[in-house]
Amino acid sequence: MNPSRRDFLQKLTGATLGATALPFLANAEPDVEATPYAGPVLRVALLGLGSYATRVADAMKDCKMAKLVGAVSGTPSKLDDWSKKYDLDKKNLYSYQNFDSIKSNPDIDAVYVITPNLLHKEFVLRAAKAGKHAITEKPMAGTAAEAREMIAGCQRAGVRLMVGYRLHFEPHTREFIRLRESGELGKVMHVINSTGFRIGDPNQWRLKKNLAGGGSLMDIGIYSLNGARYATGEEPIWVTAQEMKTDPQKFPDGVDETITFQLGFPSGVIASCTSSYAFNAQDRFTLIGDKGFAELQPASGYGPTRGKTNKGPIEQPIVTHQTLQMDGMADLILNKKTISPPVDGEEGLRDMIVIDAIYEAVRTGKKVVIKS
Ligand code: NAD
Repeated sequence: MNPSRRDFLQKLTGATLGATALPFLANAEPDVEATPYAGPVLRVALLGLGSYATRVADAMKDCKMAKLVGAVSGTPSKLDDWSKKYDLDKKNLYSYQNFDSIKSNPDIDAVYVITPNLLHKEFVLRAAKAGKHAITEKPMAGTAAEAREMIAGCQRAGVRLMVGYRLHFEPHTREFIRLRESGELGKVMHVINSTGFRIGDPNQWRLKKNLAGGGSLMDIGIYSLNGARYATGEEPIWVTAQEMKTDPQKFPDGVDETITFQLGFPSGVIASCTSSYAFNAQDRFTLIGDKGFAELQPASGYGPTRGKTNKGPIEQPIVTHQTLQMDGMADLILNKKTISPPVDGEEGLRDMIVIDAIYEAVRTGKKVVIKS
């Protein structure tokens, strides 16, 4: 075991959130060196070998319950490179054309789709048809209607569907949620969540409606939205939204540069959220209660995540998000468990329903009521 993995596990086993929040650690002994994990392992193939897939593959080297065993790509040279770099058996490598034959490969349990957003649906449905559990990156799909098709397809096939909500496993985020649930911050009064970065290359797929399905909201604003939902523990019942566009050439019709949106919750709480491809390094998440506040900054980036409350710093282990996520998801799949806040298809769908409503609010300039 490498030192960072050992350090990370030791910190976690000593941490308050430990085994209950991160169930895959439930059997971890304090001396992790003496008790190497010998239980079942989820064997995963990554599909779409771009920059985020590379980050996930590197992080998976430190997983104990999940193992990278295969890859799917449209580029043969990438498959060769990955095979060497991650020691993947050639029989576990697929092109997009022959991907469906993964059905007859007993050595792969799950496929993690990490392509441009609007390709998630096709590949999740193909993975499910092949009898493999499906993990897809966020946003789950282009629209709520697509998300529903994905959920139905996975249900029909009897496989699990999960969305790459890595923050649901992240210790500072879990402590932030615990603070709200425990009542330590008092009654929730307001949430402010702002996410954004300055996007570079104007030719990338993130700025193409037919691959991204939208703009910053699909990519980064989804963190503001998803966070506002778990910060309140409620589902929004209405949205209002406004779009700002300073560079219509770089951000064509249907690709939002910056959107501000407000979510109204049944308790009367309103969340004020921002999503931008024009604000640099914007990543601040505040939960305001009538007794105090909690804040994460950075909140949604890869970390190190940092946080504080009105009483002082939020002290939690610094982890590699994707290592924890993949071990956590393996535990959920192998042991037929769920986690709260969830990472399943229904959770992805709830975000897509609100995203549809935000775009409608931008288009119409009206308050949009969200039907449950
Ligand atoms: P990327 O451009 O680096 O990689 C995309 C991959 O998809 C490439 O390997 C590309 O070859 C492949 N691809 C297949 N068909 C394609 C097509 N028609 N056009 C373009 N590329 C095609 O992008 P990325 O940053 O790795 O993002 C991929 C997915 O991961 C997106 O859904 C994104 O939202 C998500 N993501 C999530 C996080 C996170 O923290 N959870 C971070 C980054 C990206």
